[in-house]
Amino acid sequence: MSTKPTDTKVLIIGAGLGGLTLAAICRRANIPYIVLERTEKLSPAGAGISLAPNALRVLDQLGVYSRVKENGQRLNTMLVHYEKDQWRSLDFTGLESKFGYPVYSIERHSFHEYLYDAAGGPENVRLGSKVVDVVDEYGSPSVVVKVADGATYTADVVVGADGIRSVTRRILAQNAGLKSINTIQFTGRVHMSGYTKPIPGLGKEHEGVGNWIFYDDAILTTWPCKDNRQWYIGVKRVPLGEKDPDRSVWEGTTKSMVNDVYGRKYHPFGGESKTCAEIIDNSERVIASNVFEEQDFPSMTSGRVALLGDAAHSMTSFFGQGACQAIEDATELGNALLAHYSSPTPSASTLSTAFAEYSEIRGKRGKDLVSFSSIYAGIHVARLPYGLGPIARQILYKWLPIWCWFWALNWLYGYQPMIKEFPDFKAPLVKITPTVTEEVKSTEDEPISDEETVVGEKNP
Ligand SMILES: Cc1cc2nc3c(=O)[nH]c(=O)nc-3n(C[C@H](O)[C@H](O)[C@H](O)COP(=O)(O)OP(=O)(O)OC[C@H]3O[C@@H](n4cnc5c(N)ncnc54)[C@H](O)[C@@H]3O)c2cc1C
Repeated sequence: MSTKPTDTKVLIIGAGLGGLTLAAICRRANIPYIVLERTEKLSPAGAGISLAPNALRVLDQLGVYSRVKENGQRLNTMLVHYEKDQWRSLDFTGLESKFGYPVYSIERHSFHEYLYDAAGGPENVRLGSKVVDVVDEYGSPSVVVKVADGATYTADVVVGADGIRSVTRRILAQNAGLKSINTIQFTGRVHMSGYTKPIPGLGKEHEGVGNWIFYDDAILTTWPCKDNRQWYIGVKRVPLGEKDPDRSVWEGTTKSMVNDVYGRKYHPFGGESKTCAEIIDNSERVIASNVFEEQDFPSMTSGRVALLGDAAHSMTSFFGQGACQAIEDATELGNALLAHYSSPTPSASTLSTAFAEYSEIRGKRGKDLVSFSSIYAGIHVARLPYGLGPIARQILYKWLPIWCWFWALNWLYGYQPMIKEFPDFKAPLVKITPTVTEEVKSTEDEPISDEETVVGEKNP
């Protein structure tokens, strides 16, 4: 191995969904970049993913949306159940005309591959490169990044897109003399998810139909995927005394482990027996992981280093927004980098201005999302103070008119960042409320460590 450092302009740590999105933006914008990923092969944890309008617009710009449409499934209807009782059917077909894009569900590995291709694949993404140090010394010409195998990289800008246990963030905190490392919290809950083969007995009328099912002791969502495959994700409280807060991913999870929790529970797509076992037994893969969240995160930038996605703000998955937020971050960071590099004389000052803007926009949105996600989680699992959880949940899911849902979604889906300097892109016009149109422009006029510190535990 050469001891000479490899130099680039933008060095991205982590080939997750956020890091690869930023890499794809750099690639299209002709900004030299390298992605360092610690794993030897891309192995995204998880089974499926749902992608909302706030992420799909930039994916459209990057040419990834057409692949998502080809191999994913658009969400048309969500059936809401409490145990065997169907509360209602929510029609989501209006999302596209309102926000320009619908919600799509797709098998997670395929989606990761599409982003990997858009990011330049092996040419730019160096697998098996675990970053162990980031040195951003005042006055030095570049930031230095050290990898476990001894390789060294130098870059103008370093981006920590290295997930919930971000080593970049930890190093920044240590350099700043902070004792705190990652302040993620175990929520006392566990996810179980899986991706199935086409489910026997389901036909055309089931395509695009998802199910939210609230049980007395757990919840389960099945997202419709291509050819009536299902991506399911369940959340259950961990019984007291059985908590293992360190299990980010439960290695060796089996269908029978998932069946122990959900197998006998009701599911309308569960064949003759109408049980989840029919779905779980048809899984191509299952996975379990503890649920973490973080309410207290630092600045999105420090010197020439920026954070994005879960490295900056991790949230519970109840709201299905973690990856969408990482993609939003990547887009705004891409805009900041373009502003810096398109200046006639890129300098420390132009970078600092660009980073300040990124921090302001994304720090606020990230904090809002994390808080909202936490409140939403409380309603979703019917756990609110004074025992109000069950009634709040019933109001939201059984009685709230669909127009209220769409109104509330303006805030989330109406914000759709785009790369401003990709002028050849014409996206569908989004019709949104005045508060949101301030942030989203019409496209007609203008193209628009492995170790972790769990500092607290709570059981919401
Ligand atoms: C069960 C489950 C379901 C979810 N469903 C959804 C959903 O439907 N929709 C949605 O929007 N979000 C969902 N999320 C959240 C989403 O998965 C995350 O928020 C998203 O993956 C975060 O992306 P990221 O790029 O920030 O980090 P990650 O995807 O975690 O990527 C970080 C990358 O950095 C690498 N890395 C770490 N340390 C180093 C190092 N030292 N050196 C080099 N590389 C390193 C890691 O190996 C990894 O590849 C779900 C999460 C879970 C757990």
